[in-house]
Amino acid sequence: MATTTTHPSCGTSWTGTRPEHCPVCCETFGGSRTADRHRVGPMGDRRCLHPTQIGAVKDGRGIWVRPYRTRASDATARLTGVRSSE
Ligand SMILES: [Zn+2]
Ligand SMILES: [Zn+2]
Repeated sequence: MATTTTHPSCGTSWTGTRPEHCPVCCETFGGSRTADRHRVGPMGDRRCLHPTQIGAVKDGRGIWVRPYRTRASDATARLTGVRSSE
């Protein structure tokens, strides 16, 4: 069941409940672990790293995902919307 969510202040929309959209830098991440990773600094003084700084790459839907433990064939699967556990 696909649910589309839109962040009103930037107009970005994404599908499903897994992606996490950062309200600060308005980037969308494939999961909370990836999103957590781009937030650095002490509580109350958090800031965002650019997704490329955490080794993320944009998938076919414009969502940042971390390609670790991913082979080329898996990356192709991600681009076509077939996702595994992360
Ligand atoms: Zn952010
Ligand atoms: Zn946004």
